[in-house]
Amino acid sequence: MSISFTPEFDATDIAGWQITNVCGCTSKLFSSYADATAAYVQLPGYNGDDSPYLPGCGMDENDRATFRPSIHAVENHQYPTVTLANTNARGLLDRLGLPGDDSGSVDSTDLIGRILLAQALCGPDEGVPSSVAPRKSGPTLVEGGRLPGYYDDVLTRLVNVATWAMTHARPVTWQ
Ligand SMILES: [Zn+2]
Repeated sequence: MSISFTPEFDATDIAGWQITNVCGCTSKLFSSYADATAAYVQLPGYNGDDSPYLPGCGMDENDRATFRPSIHAVENHQYPTVTLANTNARGLLDRLGLPGDDSGSVDSTDLIGRILLAQALCGPDEGVPSSVAPRKSGPTLVEGGRLPGYYDDVLTRLVNVATWAMTHARPVTWQ
């Protein structure tokens, strides 16, 4: 499992709507969901609950009945993202003084302040060596390490996310 830190998604991140299917067939890009829906009910084979398919589709009738096309949003976002394993994300949230939940949101200006504070207070990340701890009984514990400078790099990348979000007047979310 991983957690991504991104500027909050909004409608301007959607380039349009498209009808696609698992076979790889795609429609053109529609500017609204309503337009895509209107096109969907015009697909050949569409009869309320029949087997619609995109023009030119090579699937046979059985497959068409099983794999129906669907409408989905095509994203067009340009923002930077930081994705971390859950454990590392919790370590990052801890450094930032934010709740260690698997999802949340923070004002982007506030976040930049927290990053600067973390960089000042925590100093360079010295890392954690990988360790193997033998025990008298029971299994051997193996702990994953962390390379020196790991969180320094993460905080630098998170500044980019927070700056982009602040410039576009959005909070930063993680999930
Ligand atoms: Zn197809």
